[in-house]
Amino acid sequence: MNSPYFGEAHHRFRASLREFLEKEIFPHAREWEESGEIPELAYQKFASQGLILPALPNAYRDGRPRPFNVPDHEWDIFFGIIVGEELARCPYNGVVWGLNGGNLIGCPPILNFGTQEQRMEYLPRVFRGEIRFCLAVTEPGAGSDVANIATTAEVDPTDPSYYLVTGEKKWITNGIWSDFATTAVRTGPPGSGAAGISVLIIPLKNTPGVRRSRMRNSGVSASGSTYISFNNVRVPRANLIGEENKGFAVIMSNFNPERVSIATSAIQMARTCYDEAFKHAVFRRKTFGAYLSENQIIRSKLAGMLRRIESCKAWLYQLAFEVKSRGEKVAYQDPYIGAMSALLKVEAGKTLELCVREAQQIFGGQGVSKDGVGSIVEQMSRDFRVFIIGGGSEEILDDLGIRVLVDKARKERLNGKAKVKL
Ligand SMILES: Cc1cc2nc3c(=O)[nH]c(=O)nc-3n(C[C@H](O)[C@H](O)[C@H](O)COP(=O)(O)OP(=O)(O)OC[C@H]3O[C@@H](n4cnc5c(N)ncnc54)[C@H](O)[C@@H]3O)c2cc1C
Repeated sequence: MNSPYFGEAHHRFRASLREFLEKEIFPHAREWEESGEIPELAYQKFASQGLILPALPNAYRDGRPRPFNVPDHEWDIFFGIIVGEELARCPYNGVVWGLNGGNLIGCPPILNFGTQEQRMEYLPRVFRGEIRFCLAVTEPGAGSDVANIATTAEVDPTDPSYYLVTGEKKWITNGIWSDFATTAVRTGPPGSGAAGISVLIIPLKNTPGVRRSRMRNSGVSASGSTYISFNNVRVPRANLIGEENKGFAVIMSNFNPERVSIATSAIQMARTCYDEAFKHAVFRRKTFGAYLSENQIIRSKLAGMLRRIESCKAWLYQLAFEVKSRGEKVAYQDPYIGAMSALLKVEAGKTLELCVREAQQIFGGQGVSKDGVGSIVEQMSRDFRVFIIGGGSEEILDDLGIRVLVDKARKERLNGKAKVKL
């Protein structure tokens, strides 16, 4: 279909990326998901294509090109969306997150709020595939309520150039094999809420006081979901990202692009469910002497899926265009863009949820079987839930989105610029 958002360069990029993924990644994805790990060689191949932090500015890429030699001046948010869409064609989302789930959320705080020294020390090595990052915010006692985290970083009384970090982090994607965790810690007094949070780069490998254990979730096995304990871990104060006690804004700034990225994947996964169900209903499965698609109630399911998918996609591209037009750094600071990113993520998650359900119904018993024609949909039925919980859950984001619009309307009324007429 013709598109105002994607040009020739985007189409070429998509074709090259698809060819690479279909040759090097997708054929092995099931095996990696089942073993819960991606071989180092595969990770290095992925890195060698520039696919780790594909949007990283030239200054931190060591002179290496962007993926598939896209010139810097041509790169825009739509190339990033293509990366998200093409990766999400993988039926095993654990593999997608295993390849890049940690770096993509653990590195932006360094890029956007770190010192030049921190950027130069870490980002080129991440890009080359030499080190890996994860983002450690969630704790056993604080998930949605980020301002309530309990992991503390206190200045070491024996050497004030260090912090001593103590606490626990839960469900940390890639944590088990990451070299560093971009970690939310409390540097303010107990009860200081959002005003007492800082973000620290904590080395994980061979660090005294760090313990890591794998977590078993219902899907995404190859994503390396990890429980991390810190017990009096000495961390240089030079590893602070941004200012002390100003970390809440750093964490929040990560969320808008992350939500757009989660929505991108969810929409593509919903499309896979639709495609699988369509093939099954139209060309494969006959009941009572006719293909499933001969029944109006089955066609109605397919129509319902496609309507939701195409609506979400149009919304995603329009939002991305708005972000591109205003510049990513500026746009993502705008509460309105934040609200739209949150609501889009909710809608994409609900669309995925619906499509998984309807596809499983169309597959019948095959939709819950780990082998055979319905196995992709079965896998997605275990992977999809985290899209509705992680990166801000449905309940929190719906409320966030609408609160921004309510506040905006109230302010406009107070300023005499009311758009809402009563
Ligand atoms: C596979 C996986 C990977 C993850 N990866 C990472 C990672 O890499 N790094 C990281 O830091 N975290 C990660 N997380 C954690 C994730 O971000 C949290 O699970 C999420 O923020 C929700 O927190 P919670 O699970 O503690 O739920 P809770 O905050 O306990 O919420 C439970 C339920 O109550 C609802 N709820 C909570 N408060 C309210 C309210 N005020 N009003 C209405 N409803 C409410 C929520 O929407 C949710 O449905 C991951 C989680 C999973 C499952």
